[in-house]
Amino acid sequence: MNASVTVRVPAKVNVQLSVGPLRDDGYHDLVNVFHAVSIFDEVEAKESESVKVSVEGEWADQVPLDEGNLAVQAARALAKHAGRSYGVELVIRKTIPVAGGMAGGSADAAGALLACNELWGLGLPLEDLMEIAGDLGSDVPFSLLGGTAVGTGRGERLSQVEMGGTFHWVFAVADGGLSTAKVYAECDRLREVSGEQVAGLQGNQALLDALRIGDAAGLGAELTNDLQAAALSLRPSLAQTLAVGTELGALGAIVSGSGPTCAFLATSAEHARALAEALSAADVCRTAVPTSGPAPGAQLI
Ligand code: ATP
Repeated sequence: MNASVTVRVPAKVNVQLSVGPLRDDGYHDLVNVFHAVSIFDEVEAKESESVKVSVEGEWADQVPLDEGNLAVQAARALAKHAGRSYGVELVIRKTIPVAGGMAGGSADAAGALLACNELWGLGLPLEDLMEIAGDLGSDVPFSLLGGTAVGTGRGERLSQVEMGGTFHWVFAVADGGLSTAKVYAECDRLREVSGEQVAGLQGNQALLDALRIGDAAGLGAELTNDLQAAALSLRPSLAQTLAVGTELGALGAIVSGSGPTCAFLATSAEHARALAEALSAADVCRTAVPTSGPAPGAQLI
């Protein structure tokens, strides 16, 4: 057994998020093209008699320290799978915004799965961890896998997309989060009010082609998020954030997942840095972070 193990896990943006009608089980069918980006949380797992967690970093005060913490739930699920009552002290160093639509909680759950698998010397293969991850939440399997992948079902059935290059992004982080459940409920409400019929869900071939050949302009033109109208309805100021990024020359601008973080596609690393500075100066977000994707999934460091 190791005394301490640290794992690094990426945030994600959905470059396509197509949402089907509400299912009887309360979930929505999705076609979800996940793309991991180089904004990382770290999850350290240390030997302990019981399961406990602490959180460090800018967003620490917004993260639960009880059984509501997704990393704690992941550790418990893994111990249950192994049929033992293991303990672990988890230390989460948060960089991914909380409730920002970038799957930060899911990242920490994936990090805890990988770290505890190592700490406890279980040696479970990735496919077993992916199965446990799917029960923890729709985005957790992708946080383990990383890269770029198409998710179907609730988002948990994944098939990896071959990538032709690196994309440069800016994430405009808002003050305060948005609840994912409330954004889905608002999406359902808006559809009911407008009478919109949701057509059959499918992957956007032009978008997948752009990802495969590393065509940033093509990807920027094809970004879609069915939750965007709901996020804007709940947080109208995001419309201005998106408009300013577009005026500043972004190839594409989109709400990330359920928001309120906004994602902008840049032409180069240099353009991403300039765009981030200009967005910060325009006072349309709390902070703007230049980064790139695809990033690897959960990794021991
Ligand atoms: P998604 O993009 O998957 O919809 P999100 O990025 O919008 O999720 P998270 O940062 O995952 O949202 O947090 C959602 C809620 O989950 C938070 O409000 C927080 O109370 C709770 N939570 C539980 N565990 C964690 C964790 N380890 N890190 C962050 N939030 C957590």
